[in-house]
Amino acid sequence: MDRRTFLQTTSAALALLPQPAWALPPAKPKARVIVIGGGMGGAAVAKYLRLWGDTVAVTLIERQAKYVSSILSSLVLTGQRSLPSLTFGYDALRNRYGVDVVIDEAVEVDPIRTTVRLASGGQLSADRVVMAPGISFDPVPGLNEEGRIVHAWQAGPQTATLAKQLTEMPANGVVVLTIPKPPYRCPPGPYERACLIADWLKTMKPNAKLIVLDANPDIIVEKENFSRAFGDLYAKTIEYRSGIEITSADPRQMALSTNSGSVRGDVINLIPRQRAATLVAATGLVSGGDGRFAPVDVLSYASTVAPTVHVIGDSIATAQPKAGHIANQEAKVCADALLRIFSGQHPDPSPVTNSACYSTITQTEAAWLTAVFQYDSGSKSMVPAAKSFAASNGWTADNFKDMGKWFDALMADTFF
Ligand SMILES: Cc1cc2nc3c(=O)[nH]c(=O)nc-3n(C[C@H](O)[C@H](O)[C@H](O)COP(=O)(O)OP(=O)(O)OC[C@H]3O[C@@H](n4cnc5c(N)ncnc54)[C@H](O)[C@@H]3O)c2cc1C
Repeated sequence: MDRRTFLQTTSAALALLPQPAWALPPAKPKARVIVIGGGMGGAAVAKYLRLWGDTVAVTLIERQAKYVSSILSSLVLTGQRSLPSLTFGYDALRNRYGVDVVIDEAVEVDPIRTTVRLASGGQLSADRVVMAPGISFDPVPGLNEEGRIVHAWQAGPQTATLAKQLTEMPANGVVVLTIPKPPYRCPPGPYERACLIADWLKTMKPNAKLIVLDANPDIIVEKENFSRAFGDLYAKTIEYRSGIEITSADPRQMALSTNSGSVRGDVINLIPRQRAATLVAATGLVSGGDGRFAPVDVLSYASTVAPTVHVIGDSIATAQPKAGHIANQEAKVCADALLRIFSGQHPDPSPVTNSACYSTITQTEAAWLTAVFQYDSGSKSMVPAAKSFAASNGWTADNFKDMGKWFDALMADTFF
């Protein structure tokens, strides 16, 4: 039995046992919370609000019936994972934790009345709203969303399109991968994707080339490992160009205009700059800083603009990386803070979060990076704890196996 089947079978078996208090929605809730977005942050906050606070009613609004994990989705490009193997439903949240899961799109949040309007026409109200709707992408002139040039930076149909394009491209073709300026979702992600594609090209299409156009002056994360991989392992396959910004795209010609001339590719994976999800900005929660992400009080993740609305995950402005592991951690800090607030207490004054990240350097070997963040009362922000940053020296097959275990544990903690 594989791990996924094991988890599903176990949760089905548990559903038959006598149900604990948090398994059923409370008859007389002490407080109500609406969570928008059932991804890495939203699913975890909904689960832990119910698990730790059985008198709190939780409604999760998610526009897709199932969540497709972006984590590990670059392995779909090399044919090592399938999208179904990265897909997670909401049955456990409904049946094990008594979360009211509503498949709909939230189209408006009123922070004063703490109401949420749905695309289907209904309106819900609560004591607090938690927004975890992920990211949105900067428009690129000339690029149309459904076109031949995809980002595949939100796993789903675009991931399948990119995988197909790579398989069908000429044996001596050119792949172009662009890396945006930070902050963006999963800092090592584009470099890891470059390595995976290069490794796959080396075996499947040895005469093909991968051009990496990085908007940054240099590799911005795990520099030692990625520099070695690009410079040694993939020296004949990868052409890395730094400081290259994309100004427009031409899907018909399969070409990009950049600050340094035009670049053509048989396959173009254009990852645009990112910002908070559209609904977060439309709610007026993005202000200050670079105006891209929502500032929050990291003791509770309450918006600094509208304190009855909390924001977690990739939509927020924080020193913590935009990563699924961190979104899960923020969800737990937020759930704990809300439950304390509902009991008339203050949030934990010294939260700690941690982040772990595996980067596939080849199709069978990975590197890793980890960090712990703690609350700094002076700057009122989460800062890296002293000496907590650690990275693997190189990459191994054992790390690749550990990556699978880490992923299973993270997804089980979030969705089961
Ligand atoms: C290729 C790739 C590799 C990655 N690898 C890693 C990794 O190794 N480790 C790691 O920790 N992270 C990784 N990440 C990053 C990780 O996927 C994100 O940081 C994480 O998913 C963010 O969680 P979130 O809850 O903010 O957003 P998401 O997980 O994107 O969830 C947002 C959810 O909100 C829903 N939604 C949006 N708007 C609305 C609305 N208006 N109404 C209803 N629902 C809505 C969406 O449908 C979605 O389900 C990777 C990302 C990519 C692209």
